[in-house]
Amino acid sequence: QAKNGAEREAVLYNSTMETGALEKKQIETSLRRAIELGELQVFYQPVVRASDLTIVGMEALVRWTSKELGTVSPATFVPVAEETGLIHDLGRFVVDRACQDVSKWPGLKMAINLSPVQLRDPDFATGLLEVVRSYGLDPSSFELELTEGILVNNPTIAKRKLAKLKEMGFTLSLDDFGTGFSSIGYLRQFPFDVLKVDRSFVRDIGLNATANALIQSLVSLGDAMNLSVIAEGIENEDQLKLLRLVQCEYVQGYLISRPIPAEQITDLLKTVGEERRILLEAGRDDR
Ligand code: C2E
Ligand code: MG
Ligand code: MG
Ligand code: MG
Repeated sequence: QAKNGAEREAVLYNSTMETGALEKKQIETSLRRAIELGELQVFYQPVVRASDLTIVGMEALVRWTSKELGTVSPATFVPVAEETGLIHDLGRFVVDRACQDVSKWPGLKMAINLSPVQLRDPDFATGLLEVVRSYGLDPSSFELELTEGILVNNPTIAKRKLAKLKEMGFTLSLDDFGTGFSSIGYLRQFPFDVLKVDRSFVRDIGLNATANALIQSLVSLGDAMNLSVIAEGIENEDQLKLLRLVQCEYVQGYLISRPIPAEQITDLLKTVGEERRILLEAGRDDR
């Protein structure tokens, strides 16, 4: 199965495709080294209030530019990290970096993605609390993003773990809402504070009446469950308009800002000043 360089790249970086065994092995080997050598980075994407585009927080998103493999998407390497157990070290790296960086931006909430595999570690919650405290920070500065995947294996244990994190003062957020299989009544039993409406619903805004009605229902559902709602992946003004209309409280997406390195967040905060309001420049398409 000889492949030239270009084909090989296409195989590695097409995240919609299943990652084959050979690719997995390569990613594992390189990723192990990447964590040791400090090849990983954390970028941040601002989260803003929909009504006035005030920055309220940001989401930490891991980035990897590998010497051998080039840029690899987290959609490709996070699953490999989960399968191989590397996710524990990767996760620890992200938490450390997020703690260092959020200290520079007081008053902003830091959202961190957690893998179900990380939560399987019985000492995870205690360890996380220790790290946060070691930076002189409070858990209330952090939002932990989890997907429904956390609930599938053992919902009873998951519920207990989430309750513990919540007791410690962490905010809990349900990521990619609408893409999983859980019933609403079931989700209500878990102590989430925030609901992140999946990008796929935002993408369909304006396509037809059903798509718009669906977004409206998801936002209402969040409200009814007393959760804060964040819509993910807003890319244009029409989507923002509709989300304001249906009173979605927070939004995140390329229209506002792409995920950017910490230094650029610092620059952005300098630019927007005390009010922290982002001004959209018409026609700007480089976010
Ligand atoms: P997610 O947590 O749902 O993150 C949102 C993804 O959507 C990010 O992709 C972000 O860059 C992308 N995004 C944001 N706004 C837009 C937009 O307007 N349009 C489009 N097309 N995309 C947008 P990314 O960074 O590639 O991450 C993919 C997934 O990888 C994340 O989905 C999350 O599940 C996982 N991930 C990323 N970083 C971490 C991490 O540190 N730990 C863990 N466990 N998982 C992570
Ligand atoms: Mg997320
Ligand atoms: Mg998401
Ligand atoms: Mg996701």
